This record gives sequence, structure tokens and C-alpha cells, in this order.
Amino acid sequence: MQYTTLGKSGVRISRLSMGCGRLPENDDESTALIHRAVETGINFFETATFYCNNLCLEKTGMGLKGLRDKVMVQVKVGTEMDSTADSFRREMESQFKRLQIDRADFFQFGWLAWERMPIVLKKGGPLEGVRKFMDEGLIRHIGFTGHDTPENFIKILETGLFESMTVSYNILSRSYEKTIARAQELGVGVIIMNPVGGGMLGHPSAVLSKLEARDDSTTPATALRFVLANPGVSTANSGMANLAQLEENLAAVETASTLTAADHEQMRKILDEYKSLGDSFCTGCKYCMPCPHGVDIPANFNLYNYHKVYEFTDWANSQYAGMKSECRADRCTDCGECEPKCPQKLPIRKQLKQVHALFGKTSS
Ligand code: SF4
Ligand code: SF4
Repeated sequence: MQYTTLGKSGVRISRLSMGCGRLPENDDESTALIHRAVETGINFFETATFYCNNLCLEKTGMGLKGLRDKVMVQVKVGTEMDSTADSFRREMESQFKRLQIDRADFFQFGWLAWERMPIVLKKGGPLEGVRKFMDEGLIRHIGFTGHDTPENFIKILETGLFESMTVSYNILSRSYEKTIARAQELGVGVIIMNPVGGGMLGHPSAVLSKLEARDDSTTPATALRFVLANPGVSTANSGMANLAQLEENLAAVETASTLTAADHEQMRKILDEYKSLGDSFCTGCKYCMPCPHGVDIPANFNLYNYHKVYEFTDWANSQYAGMKSECRADRCTDCGECEPKCPQKLPIRKQLKQVHALFGKTSS
């Protein structure tokens, strides 16, 4: 395993880290995956209460039993309008209990946005609660994550309050590139979520295989190497769901150092040529769901992505024709309820119309 320093925190972190949001449903398999991850040198585990059908903390705690001193665990708490130091304390204590740990190495303010900073900073507010936890030795480092605009994240970085930042970044979604560069300047460690596009880049793509001049490149490996070749990135936090994905990611990370900053620049230039791939990309996060009118928004966009990215147009057409009619894009009533919930700020209604215009011809 390769390691790097996570910004000014000074912590040595594995370049591949474990997002615990896609652990297998079966507890034995989940524990085996965590054990193998630790065995390979992965030393950073990222958790959130609602992952894995709200069982992420229990599953991670179960898997890390007896291994706690070998790894670092990150917890996160979101800031609501009425959040206080006490509510944060209660939530962190509850998360520790569910994880079966008595302290966390990293804490991040989850789903943070610039407009929420006054709540974080208020007297008796969340930051005060988190700092008290630090004073008591229950947390070592503070960071933030979320889906606010790249510009607003730069403003949050420039407060100087945080040692780490987690953002979404991958070959298909590069909107935080300037934010990552600013974090590097400020010595803030950068943890990348969705390095393989929420699993989307786990599939082969003739288009993306052109990015690297190597015979053994696969789309997920190229995707991971691309992320890690960014000099501002500390670790790719991949939500791995099985041992095969873990081994594939490990192999890619082992070869990541063969890519230089110049190679990364070259890849970015090629991606710019395919600009349409990098924009308007649905990661399948499902934050927009449920749609009150039954439209399965991510399923429709998944087909659109396959068509757009991989040119699997015939396959996408047949899948659309086979989709339950009540879930299809043409059932959208234009109510607009979903769009404010989309972290990618996608024009969902407009894109659903494009999906139906593309695939609707062959479906009844
Ligand atoms: S705009 Fe369309 S897809 Fe979005 S919530 Fe309304 S009906 Fe559903
Ligand atoms: S449309 Fe937006 S919110 Fe919905 S799944 Fe895609 S990225 Fe997530």
C-alpha cells in the first residue's frame, strides 16, 4: 500500500481508503471485506449513519473489532438549523456507541454549505461542541464534506478551520478541481468520494481507455489513477462492495505513482475534448428520490450515461423499453420537487425530457 501525508494534519493515510457505504448485506462478508482491507494496509475508514440501510456504523464496528489500533475512523454529523454543541455531542456519542469505539480519529461536518457556517460558528454551536470533544481527546482532526459549489467550498477552506475536506471528484465530474488546488495551497488534506463515479466507472469504456497509454488499463483502474495523479489529492475513498472490487482498486493504486503530474495534465486535456462527458453527470446518489410521481430518476439517467459515455445506445434503448412504464422519464410532470435536492445541480426535468426523446421512440 502507498501512503501519503494528509495535509497539515501530518497523518499518514493510505492512498486507497475505505468508504463504508457499500458494505455487503451479509455480515460475514462485510467483516471479511473489512479484514482484507486492513490486511492490505488500508488505514482510513469513512462512515455515515444512513449508509447500508442505516447499518453502516454497526457493520463497520463489527468488522473493525480487535483491529481498532491499526486504523483511523472518520465520523460525520450534518448541521441542521437547530444544531447546538449539545446536539452534536449526543449524536457523536451515539455514533461511537454504534461503532463500538471510544474515540474517532477524524470528524467531518457533513453536508456542509457556506450558508450553514453561521450555525456552525454560533456561540454554543456545533464547532464549540466538536472542539470540546477534541479537548477531551475524543476526536483528533476536524474537516468538512458536502456538495456546495466549488466557490463556496473555497470560502469554507479559507476560514482556516479545517484540516481535511472530502469532495466528489472523478474523470466524469471535475468541477472541484480548483477547490482541490486551493486546499493543497492551504495544506488541507483532500479525501475524494466517488473516485469511480459512484460505481459508474466500474464498467469498461472504449472512450475512457484512450486516456492512458498502457496495455493493462481498465476503466476503473484508469479512473482511480486519474484521481490519485492529481497532486492535491491525498486519498481515494472508494465505497467497495466486495473483495473483487477491493483487489482491483488495490492493483490500480499500486500503479498510481507511475502517473506523473504531466500525465495527469495530458489526461485532463483529453477529457476536455470530451467535455460533454464531464458535465451533467448523475452519480446515482438518489438524494432526489422519491419522486412523488413515481419517476425513477437515477435509473433513467443511468441509461442516459451508458449511452452518452459508453455508446451502449442499443442496450440503453432496450432497457428503457423494458422499464416499468410508471418509472419512465415521460411520467415526469415538471413539478420541480427533485431539483433542489440534487447535489450535482442537474437540470433533472430537462434531462428527463432528453432521455425520453432519445429512448422513447422504441417504447410504447
Ligand atoms: S420534476 Fe419530475 S422527476 Fe422531479 S419530482 Fe417532479 S415529477 Fe418527479
Ligand atoms: S439526479 Fe442528482 S440527486 Fe438524483 S441520483 Fe442523480 S445525482 Fe443524485
